[in-house]
Amino acid sequence: MNQVRTRFAPSPTGYLHIGGLRTALYAWLFARKHDGVFILRIEDTDVAREVEGAKDVIYSTLHETGLYYDEGPDVGGAFGPYIQSERREIYKEYAEKLIQRGAAYRCFCTKEQLAEARAAAEARGETYTYDKHCLNLSADTIQKKLDAGEPYVIRQNIPRDGETTYTDAVFGDITVPNADLDDNVLLKADGMPTYNLANVIDDHLMGVTHVIRGVEYLSSTPKYNHLYRAMDWEIPTYIHLPVVMKDKQRKLSKRHGDASYDDFIKKGYLREALINYIALLGWSPGTEQEIFTLDELVNAFSIEGLSKSSAIFDVEKLTWMNAQYIRALSKKDFIIRAMPYFKAAGVDNLNLNLISEMIQPRLERLDEIPAKLSFLTQLPEFSVDLYTHKRSGTNAETALPVLKETRLALESLDDYSIESLKSTLTALIERLAVKNGFLYWPLRIAISGQEVTPGGPVEIACLLGKSETLRRLDCSIAALER
Ligand code: GLU
Repeated sequence: MNQVRTRFAPSPTGYLHIGGLRTALYAWLFARKHDGVFILRIEDTDVAREVEGAKDVIYSTLHETGLYYDEGPDVGGAFGPYIQSERREIYKEYAEKLIQRGAAYRCFCTKEQLAEARAAAEARGETYTYDKHCLNLSADTIQKKLDAGEPYVIRQNIPRDGETTYTDAVFGDITVPNADLDDNVLLKADGMPTYNLANVIDDHLMGVTHVIRGVEYLSSTPKYNHLYRAMDWEIPTYIHLPVVMKDKQRKLSKRHGDASYDDFIKKGYLREALINYIALLGWSPGTEQEIFTLDELVNAFSIEGLSKSSAIFDVEKLTWMNAQYIRALSKKDFIIRAMPYFKAAGVDNLNLNLISEMIQPRLERLDEIPAKLSFLTQLPEFSVDLYTHKRSGTNAETALPVLKETRLALESLDDYSIESLKSTLTALIERLAVKNGFLYWPLRIAISGQEVTPGGPVEIACLLGKSETLRRLDCSIAALER
């Protein structure tokens, strides 16, 4: 086999759809697995859809996720340019060659003429296809129109009879009657190519051996194969990937605000978890293993493991996986990843080692951090009913004297380290001859204002420090005395 060359060919829309990222991942994995080359090509021929900064979103996402490309717009390579709008001359040259070979022709039909023909076909209940009117123009007529500067497009000349078959590596044999294939535009009047032309020219000139892309191109691939044949080019191996669905009925779409890489990163998913989850969205390793590093994915990946059926994006599964990844982070990495959320919670000036110990094992998503820690920056208002806890045998009445004693003990303490707080409180519990919970329950409520906290009262007091702990105790005692 020649050296494997795969490509990811996104259009710069300003966001990277999960389905697109999966295509990129599979193309990357396949290239790495076979010591091949992974290419990034920007398909920006639809100028109207161009979004400012959109290319950067693509570059940065691929870099962040570790899907480094060997050739691409910002890294160069021997087959550039890798941005389609910079390849106009190339497309024009090949469109002319296709005309010479009888595989394409100039079409001078106006928008109005085409709209009329379409309306007439629809009125007859037929699916509209271009009637090849301009294929039959004489050389003379064409020359006259060109001399007169009439605008034209270049259309593909598809045989009307017969059928075209090819074998897709995932979907098997695909046969399409040629009559179903329209003479689509290859080169627009403004000189820009359509996808129909550009994908073939670029995949060939860039030496792409395996075309990995979305299933929406499965049935138009015979059209592209006509172009390969007209040019006597080798047809690449096709690997079409099924759609990513939100549920059984709906595609994962940008409109739902949960379709792009950035949407998930903003929600506190780790990029490694997302990549790991996406890898399994339509591919199976054939084993029970679910957690994979990128290297492990490279080893395990194979085309045979790809599925034909559309994959449903299971957010719960992703969230479970994310929790595993968060737990597995080293403390240092966890603090780095969580820092934006610590800042949002206003706790970044506190003891982050301690906070991380308390919170890291309890998170499914990083964006849960601010809500879980907000009690550290402000004692929330709370009802004295929270002091009632059956198992500890406490309530608002029993809490008051215990909190007063605790306040006294903590007032005389200057070292608010975990060890010192623990030994002081243990001594107090012994002196009062009560159960641990009889003191710890009301203390947690009094200084955090909530029943459930990441970490216990000792950790919370340590984080708050002496003056804030005492201030909160005073507030809570005053509330009980009212
Ligand atoms: N620009 C096309 C898209 O974003 C790429 C399809 C392909 O991979 O060939 O859908």
